[in-house]
Amino acid sequence: MRLCAVSVDLDEIPNYFQIHGLPEPSGPGSTAVYDVALERLVQMAHDASVPLTLFAIGADVARPRAALGLVAARAKGHEIANHSRDHRYDLVRLDRSAIRDQIVGGVEAIERAVGERPVGFRAPGYTVNDTVFEVLAEHGVLYDTSVFPCPAYWAAKTAVIGAMSLAGRPSRSVVDRPTVLLAPTEPYHVGHPYWRRGDGLLEMPVQVTRGLRLPFIGTTVTLAGTTRARWLARMCLGAPLISLELHGIDLLDASDGLDALRPHQPDVRVATAKKLAALHAVFELLRRERYSFVTLREAAEAVAKY
Ligand SMILES: [Zn+2]
Repeated sequence: MRLCAVSVDLDEIPNYFQIHGLPEPSGPGSTAVYDVALERLVQMAHDASVPLTLFAIGADVARPRAALGLVAARAKGHEIANHSRDHRYDLVRLDRSAIRDQIVGGVEAIERAVGERPVGFRAPGYTVNDTVFEVLAEHGVLYDTSVFPCPAYWAAKTAVIGAMSLAGRPSRSVVDRPTVLLAPTEPYHVGHPYWRRGDGLLEMPVQVTRGLRLPFIGTTVTLAGTTRARWLARMCLGAPLISLELHGIDLLDASDGLDALRPHQPDVRVATAKKLAALHAVFELLRRERYSFVTLREAAEAVAKY
């Protein structure tokens, strides 16, 4: 099996302001993910012949323009999946009924917006726990794709959140327990705890490289530039499923009304055209290495037969 699934979390711009502890944004930049990036993503997917799995936040798709964008993407063969109702970074700190509301609320909002029930879930900020998996299984979800067993990411996130709290500007983002680093890096069925193998829900982890388990995600690929992005992709070759996770903001830059994020996010300072070039370089390399591009739903079905 040599499959590559490219997924995109459509976290709208206010989420990034929350991560950095900034006041709520206003103006056209605040809806740039749905109003600008989504069309660029669909164009990129068309140019590269890559189907996407788009993870939408339920609260965002109540906006008619956002819903229309998803309907148009689905008509082109892209999968629409659930990224929770409100993108609560503290999902794992909520009680069971609030976790249920976040998961089921996302499913229902997306079903209302696009006319089809999503089968996949990704938690906000990659943080999950056993209750999340129990609720997903109870509600007939086919797969989860939130586990990110990446020591470099975990260490960086912990350091940044700690520094912000010391500076009196607390982030809304929360850190997962380091046990997530013990989880398999390839698709597996979760056990109890979820980072062990078992016979529960199918988990397709967010991609890390061989060896150092570096993050192979949109942020690192687009910041790396084409040459280093190809190197990162090569370090993933051989995996039965390469699950490349992007964010809508990966196809935006400061000129899209995101000037306020410039000091906080180096990726916003890189021009969209340059980031697109790095992504296309990765797609070309993987295709040359005989990877087939599929949605995460198709990947889940293939893993079940594998
Ligand atoms: Zn997100």
